[in-house]
Amino acid sequence: MLVCRDVSEMLTDYTEGTLGARRWVGVRWHLAICPMCRAFLVQLRATRSILSRIRLPADEEGEARAMAERERRGG
Ligand SMILES: [Zn+2]
Repeated sequence: MLVCRDVSEMLTDYTEGTLGARRWVGVRWHLAICPMCRAFLVQLRATRSILSRIRLPADEEGEARAMAERERRGG
């Protein structure tokens, strides 16, 4: 039987679908009986979807351009 701490450590893999079948079932079962971990899962998914929508910061784009420029000049 999994406890909340085990589940919270596995939730990232769970959302990415990289969790093994046995563990997946364990997490699924725990989520069915534990509102706290369900809330955590909702929060995790929300955070991930926000992060995936964030574009590269402007200064990182500038840095990538500067690197390409240096490479063109031969280091
Ligand atoms: Zn729990």
